[in-house]
Amino acid sequence: MLDLVLRNARIAGRGDAIFDIGIARGRIAEITQAISSDAPLEDAGGRLVMPGFVETHIHLDKSCILDRCESRDGTLQEAIAQVAAAKRGFTEDDVYARGRRTLEKAVVQGTTRMRTHVEVDPRIGLRSFGAIKRLKRDYAWAIDLEVCVFPQEGLLNDPGTEELLVAACEAGADLIGGCPYTDSDPHGQIARIFAIARRFDLDIDFHLDFDLDASRMDLEEVCRQTLAFRYGGRVAVGHVTKLSALAPTQLADMARRLADAGIAVTVLPATDLFLMGRDQEHSVKRGVADANLLLEHGVNCSLSSNNILNPATPYGDCSLIRMANLYANVLQVDRPAQLRECFRMLTDRSAELLNLADYGFKVGNPADIVVIDAQSPEQAIAEISQPVAAFKNGRQTMAWPLPQLLPPQLSSRNFA
Ligand SMILES: [Zn+2]
Repeated sequence: MLDLVLRNARIAGRGDAIFDIGIARGRIAEITQAISSDAPLEDAGGRLVMPGFVETHIHLDKSCILDRCESRDGTLQEAIAQVAAAKRGFTEDDVYARGRRTLEKAVVQGTTRMRTHVEVDPRIGLRSFGAIKRLKRDYAWAIDLEVCVFPQEGLLNDPGTEELLVAACEAGADLIGGCPYTDSDPHGQIARIFAIARRFDLDIDFHLDFDLDASRMDLEEVCRQTLAFRYGGRVAVGHVTKLSALAPTQLADMARRLADAGIAVTVLPATDLFLMGRDQEHSVKRGVADANLLLEHGVNCSLSSNNILNPATPYGDCSLIRMANLYANVLQVDRPAQLRECFRMLTDRSAELLNLADYGFKVGNPADIVVIDAQSPEQAIAEISQPVAAFKNGRQTMAWPLPQLLPPQLSSRNFA
């Protein structure tokens, strides 16, 4: 017995064929080209459907704080300092309210899974962590949220931080992150993060190599430790803007090392474009790593938002399609096959980075379905097509009616 049938759906990754998707008890029950059932029907109208966007890297706790910050030079160092100052005033309810605003934007943009980083240190304590755990519970009807605790302002230079990270892991953090570039001992931090991850059997997600000086890269140490601890498939790194400064042969070499170690890369174009190259007066370098090239060498990659409305990225609507369009434009991606890969870096490739075992249109998986007003993944990226409906565990969570033209001969309706 089906509870709902979504008709006339063009499934991302399955070409031009049209499918019906049957849903029972919140799960995918059937996918065929014509389902016969008395269950209620929804018509996708031949539009593109997929199991929801996967945001692999965002910071809900420090989103929407532009009104408390004053940026002057737009550098990474300034952004971290501005957030550190604002963070002292964060209360749990304040983090919850701002995080909710950002999370709701993500839901209406078709995101059904998300990994958020949360800062933990002796100034903020576990206040942000507590707020994000509440959001995870309160919005489980619309999105699966996983919480990655990390030391934004350093670990070995910041006594008391490791104890708080451990306390968060004991209190249900889903994974642990690192940020070696703000530490007095970057390699020492990498070692401590691996130690905590192994103790709690958690995946790791590092902020890494976030400038344009490719003469020295922490990535090599992360590769070394990932191999040493057999942690392949469980380590992701975000930004890695230094990769954009490597010559093609060096980049290919580094890509092969990442692939061999089993390390995935998240590219964060909005933040990377905003913060990189601030020492230049003209012909500013873009600083965005070429994820398509990394894919060609066997590295799994995702594209994500990172920051929304804060000193590191004073923009943001949580649209991952827009983020992929921005990335594609900057990297001059034009071939349809590469644009399709951009779409995969918001969907199944991102799910793989998060090690999600139940993502995708497979019988038995959660009925997470997002309908996009496009015919193909490459069109969705090129045109920033709008998600128009989302379902989580078989229940509709979002509707975004399409715009309507009102020519004079058809309507005299006014804006209302
Ligand atoms: Zn980040």
